[in-house]
Amino acid sequence: MNLINSLSLERRISLGDLVSVAFHGAKYCWMNGEIVETEKAQVSAMEPIFLGFFEGIKAYVEGNVLGEDGLNIFQWGPHIDRLWRTAAVDGLEIPYTKNQLLEAVRDSIKANEFRTNVYIQPRVWPKANVENEVYVVVPTWKFDTRLGKGNPSFAEKRSFMVSSWRRIASDALPPQAKSWANYANSALAAREAKRCGYDGAIFLDNRGFVSEGTGACLMTVREGKVITPPVSASILESVTRNTFLEFIPEDLGIPVVVRDITRVELYASDEAFLCGTGGEVTPITSVDDIKLGDEYPGPTTTCIAEYYSELLAGNVKKRRGWLTPV
Ligand code: PMP
Repeated sequence: MNLINSLSLERRISLGDLVSVAFHGAKYCWMNGEIVETEKAQVSAMEPIFLGFFEGIKAYVEGNVLGEDGLNIFQWGPHIDRLWRTAAVDGLEIPYTKNQLLEAVRDSIKANEFRTNVYIQPRVWPKANVENEVYVVVPTWKFDTRLGKGNPSFAEKRSFMVSSWRRIASDALPPQAKSWANYANSALAAREAKRCGYDGAIFLDNRGFVSEGTGACLMTVREGKVITPPVSASILESVTRNTFLEFIPEDLGIPVVVRDITRVELYASDEAFLCGTGGEVTPITSVDDIKLGDEYPGPTTTCIAEYYSELLAGNVKKRRGWLTPV
């Protein structure tokens, strides 16, 4: 059997696998101005889908991330701005205003009568033969949050490996944009991790410094400081990472340093976790079988995750501006 055939025997990787979270697809979605059954939201087989892009956003219930009433979209503005930036990178135009897209997201959520946390993924693909026309679809999913005080899934053990695949270099495919093409790189690393018996992968960038996960950014904790790689380490300009860079020092009084991290420094971390919309806060138990720190999940990671879940639920008054009601 040749190499390509053995790779094809591996299990397929879904978007949920990239952040180790289970997503449950909704019945209805919004597509170019209409609510349609998700299964019937069709894109022609003739389209150049490699030029597509998307955004991943979450709406959480008011009061308690595990509760059931009144949804708020988290960081709508930064997410939608990134969608427009990605469109520019991919040379495409979105034929709606940002407010029209907000209404589309609201319609998509309402059509499914969601009363629980929801993941929203506006997706855009070009039409091959019609200049300046695109498909815009807004599907939604329920998901299993790992946040909320005492949530057992937060403390599950997660062993990671440093991938043998490097993160795409920004002079090849810009990782700062959320283009579908970038996720082929993520899928290779996630499949390699599964094949080798790990729960997930961490990329190095093309210089050999620590970059990010397959669908989330990385933060480490060392001697009471949170350390995270810079945007120039081939990472997505993550909305969650930017949010954390703001509230961790300002609201929790924990210093945060943005700088390159070497592989051996990652091994020597007291704690490490991934942060992103999909995976929220994902504590990491070990990297390449090297156990991180003395306590798992670490106290700083737990403190950040607990504060984040309060903030998502609208319980932090000074940060309510980050929430947009559905
Ligand atoms: N890096 C990658 C590769 C991602 O796919 C994601 C998820 N969008 C992130 C980081 C985190 O970005 P955000 O916080 O904006 O969800």
